[in-house]
Amino acid sequence: MLILRSVAEVRAYRRATRQANEALVLVPTMGALHAGHLSLMRQARRPNGRVMTSIFVNPTQFGPEEDLDRYPRDEAGDLAQCRSIGCDAVFLPTVAAMYPPGASTRVTAPDMARYLCGTTRPGHFDGVCTIVTKLFNLTGCDAAVFGEKDYQQLAIIRQMARDLDLPVEVLSGPIARDPDGVAMSSRNRNLSLKQRRAARILSEALVDARADWMVGVRAPAALCQTVLRRLSSCPEARIDYIEIADPVGLQPQVIPAEATLIALAVFFGETRLIDNVVLGR
Ligand code: AMP
Repeated sequence: MLILRSVAEVRAYRRATRQANEALVLVPTMGALHAGHLSLMRQARRPNGRVMTSIFVNPTQFGPEEDLDRYPRDEAGDLAQCRSIGCDAVFLPTVAAMYPPGASTRVTAPDMARYLCGTTRPGHFDGVCTIVTKLFNLTGCDAAVFGEKDYQQLAIIRQMARDLDLPVEVLSGPIARDPDGVAMSSRNRNLSLKQRRAARILSEALVDARADWMVGVRAPAALCQTVLRRLSSCPEARIDYIEIADPVGLQPQVIPAEATLIALAVFFGETRLIDNVVLGR
C-alpha cells in the first residue's frame, strides 16, 4: 500500500495507473476510520481498478465554534485498517498542501445545502464541495464512494458533479451500524460511556418512525412527533433538528408523500451526531 503525502505524488500515481489502464476509485474520509469507511473501500474495488482512500480533516467545512480541534485523529490506526482491507493507496495531505497560503477560491454548494444541516452549519457544504472538487481534480479518479449516513452530503455531491460536469461517477454505500443500532461515526470516539449508551436513541427514534410508516402513517407532522417523543425521553439528547424532507430535493415535506427522508442531528454533550432513514423507497 502506497502512502502519498503530496499532490505531486498523487498525480504521479494517477499517471502510472492510467498507463496500466487501471481505473481509480476514491474513498474520501476525514480519518478515525471505522467499519463504515471500510465497507465503502470494499465497495470501491473493481476488476482492473485501484482503490485510493484520502484522509484529511478539512478545516474549511468546520465553523468557528465547531469541533475541528477535537475531531479524532489516528493516523497509525487508519493506515493499519486501510492495509487490512487491501487499499492500494492512501492520500494523507497536510492542510498546507491542500490550502497553500493565499488559496481563496471556493465552490458554492447547490441550493439544497440550505436545508437540514445547512441551517445550523452555514458554509459547511461550501467547504465540503471545495475539498471534494479538489480531491476529484488532483486524483483524477473515475469514481468516488460516499456513505448514505451523510445523506445530504451525498445528494449535494451528486448534484455538484452534474452541475459542474465533473467526470466522476458518484457511488454510495449504506449506513453501517454497531450491533445496538448506533450509526458508526468517527465522532462516537468522543462520547462518554453514558453518552454512547444514550446515542442509541437516534436509531430507536427512526425505528419508531418506520413502524408508524408500516402501519400507514404518512403525515409528516405525525412522523416528526413520533421521533420527537422518543428523543425527548433521553435526558442526554439535545436536539439540533428533526426534519421530514423530500428525499430528492431535501426540502421540508408538509403533506404526505410516497417517499420521505427523516433526518436527525442531536448533540450528546459537545458531540453532534446525525442519522437518517428513507421510507417508502
Ligand atoms: P467522514 O470520515 O465522517 O467524513 O466520512 C467519510 C465517508 O464515510 C463519507 O462518505 C461518509 O458518509 C461515510 N461514512 C461515515 N460513517 C458511515 C457509516 N456509518 N456508514 C456508511 N458510511 C459512512
